[in-house]
Amino acid sequence: MSRVFNFSAGPSMLPLPVLVKAAAEMTDYPGSGMSVMEMSHRSPVYEKIIADAEQLVRSVLAVPDNYKVLFLQGGATTQFSAIPLNLMNGSGKADYVVSGMFSKKSYEEAKRFGDVKVLATSADKNFTYIPTFNVADIRPDADYVHICYNNTIFGSRYPAIPDTGNVTLVADLSSCILSEPIDISRFGLVYAGAQKNMGPSGLTLVIVRDDLIGKARETTPIMLDYKVAADNDSMYNTPPTYAIYVAKLVLEWVRDEIGGLEKMAEINRRKAQKLYDYLDSSKLFSAPVELNSRSIMNVTFVTGNDEIDKKFCKDAEKAGLVNIKGHRSVGGMRASIYNAMPEAGVDKLIEFMKEFEKNV
Ligand SMILES: *Cc1c(COP(=O)(O)O)cnc(C)c1O
Repeated sequence: MSRVFNFSAGPSMLPLPVLVKAAAEMTDYPGSGMSVMEMSHRSPVYEKIIADAEQLVRSVLAVPDNYKVLFLQGGATTQFSAIPLNLMNGSGKADYVVSGMFSKKSYEEAKRFGDVKVLATSADKNFTYIPTFNVADIRPDADYVHICYNNTIFGSRYPAIPDTGNVTLVADLSSCILSEPIDISRFGLVYAGAQKNMGPSGLTLVIVRDDLIGKARETTPIMLDYKVAADNDSMYNTPPTYAIYVAKLVLEWVRDEIGGLEKMAEINRRKAQKLYDYLDSSKLFSAPVELNSRSIMNVTFVTGNDEIDKKFCKDAEKAGLVNIKGHRSVGGMRASIYNAMPEAGVDKLIEFMKEFEKNV
């Protein structure tokens, strides 16, 4: 086997045991005589798969009982529209924190549906920190405050869940879901595209509090209405069946092989800390994100010299460390070290960087 260490921001690495199990069950899902891909989503075998997946989300993420777990399609980006359509229907106002590319996109999309304000932004320093705000800055009648908890492209993340007083908090967790425990009860709604840390692309997870469901505006497309999804157990139409199955395997891996999110967080923090420690000691590389805003999933770094950056990415690829190039809007490098990136991959990257630094 010649698997590389893949530092892609998404779609990204999946745990090897998950891939091995999916491969073993590919042509005959135990007892069914067919692949999960070939099954009716209404069959008893599949109904058990999706029900198990939901239970796993509930137990691994400690989802309170008054929240619905929805398996949707269209990626996190579709939620940029679905959230205002479903939730921005009280005062018709919402406050957005713009802390990176995806939060900017969610803000721009929400503007099409109502009165949307930038509550705080870190655009002034190219999103190298998480902007703070006071509860008093929030419009008290806002239907919700929206944040992106981990900024995939810039490599920043909230040091803690911000206080929004009585206003509902909504968060994009696409690139940090399952990376550490998170108190779901602090949010009205969280969502995540699966392809960063939870499974293959094609699946979007939404966890939404019961009282926020059933308030979608009249013109909401039926596929974007949380009530329709909730009333039909995420099966109003054909759900992304195979992606849900793989997400179930990932959740089982987190629960059984890792030992849950506390353990997962311990591993993730150790991996990130090693890499940041090296970056902070290096004379060639540096991490642009402020200390208390640093992501443990997406580690961005630069040399300050485009030619050296380019050579670094090229040489790294030859060494089996692939997809380290930073997002085109930021430049430099980005190592996405999601749950499935083995600690050995981070160790190898650091060794490689040390060698590179010596020889450059
Ligand atoms: C990747 C990503 C998105 C976009 O996800 P899609 O599933 O491609 O729509 C949105 N937000 C964050 C934080 C992301 O990392």
